[in-house]
Amino acid sequence: MVIMMHQMRAEYGPGGKPGGVKTWHIVVEDDTTAMCGRGLEPEAETRDPVHWTDRPGLSCHACGALFLREAPYLPTEHGYREQPE
Ligand SMILES: [Zn+2]
Repeated sequence: MVIMMHQMRAEYGPGGKPGGVKTWHIVVEDDTTAMCGRGLEPEAETRDPVHWTDRPGLSCHACGALFLREAPYLPTEHGYREQPE
């Protein structure tokens, strides 16, 4: 069973990391390419996606749409689906 682990990864503005997070994207595991296709710095801050809705104004809309399409695979639901018939 494969569970894709998602993380939020920060995109910084022109000032870099000290200037603060410009946009939060979603990456799969420790990938540095966001789901929307944007390349992010390997050392950029990551967060658990439970924080995705904390600052909606900073969340990438494209990543949000793609993430929500993949995310509903809760472990219980997954286990149920993989029961042999
Ligand atoms: Zn994005």
